[in-house]
Amino acid sequence: MTATKRLNLSKTEFTVYLECPLKFYLLKQQNQHMKEGPRGGRDHSNYPSHFKKGLKEHRKLRAFYKNYADDIINQNAPPDKVTVQPILRKFWEQEVHRHQVDPDNWYPLALELYLATETMRGQIDRVDPLSNNECCIVEFKSSERRSGFLYQELLFYALLASESQEFKQTYGRTVSQVGCYFYDSGEWFSKKVTPEDLSDFKLTLKSYQAEMLTGNLIPRVDCHLQIDKCSYAVICTKVPDIMLKKHE
Ligand code: SF4
Repeated sequence: MTATKRLNLSKTEFTVYLECPLKFYLLKQQNQHMKEGPRGGRDHSNYPSHFKKGLKEHRKLRAFYKNYADDIINQNAPPDKVTVQPILRKFWEQEVHRHQVDPDNWYPLALELYLATETMRGQIDRVDPLSNNECCIVEFKSSERRSGFLYQELLFYALLASESQEFKQTYGRTVSQVGCYFYDSGEWFSKKVTPEDLSDFKLTLKSYQAEMLTGNLIPRVDCHLQIDKCSYAVICTKVPDIMLKKHE
């Protein structure tokens, strides 16, 4: 087994590394004491309020299909419970539109799907069927403002699904598109992905994994702009300078 194979990366660990390598090591250290698996089993009570709000909205969007799929299919008017909540109302409109465009491929194949391979793990918000035995990986985000590495994140999930034996056996579909629904604004973004995109990304990810294994504690370049916002600053600022690697 190679050294790279031993490093199993969650999607969050990956995007945190892109944001700040030092933060990644602090997070990875913390994650070592947690059981790997779907988010649901964890205690999130000490997490920042925006994170907890995000979890709540994700739960609402996941429950949407159980609660309202029949109404969408039967073209009913939205129930009061939906119209009084802006996030649900916008999501309803988006789902009505999707159903009108392609009713046969409207109902999701999976929601909050946790997948893991030897080197990657993560929970995909939604998987949509597409025609020709293809599918689209979908993420829910509050807004574009909070989505700094969105495309890399979507490619991470697309590669994870493409490499997962469980995904192949259960769904037997090729990932050919990625998309993101921004639930604050109701906007939708999608992009095609080709096998070449995925193999290029796989190489990129391998090189990041090799860098991560060097253990170089490199602080974020513009950290002075972030330090008030970063929840890891309280630990990070205690790391002695001598342990930090300087930017070249
Ligand atoms: S305070 Fe700055 S260097 Fe430290 S973990 Fe946060 S972003 Fe990285």
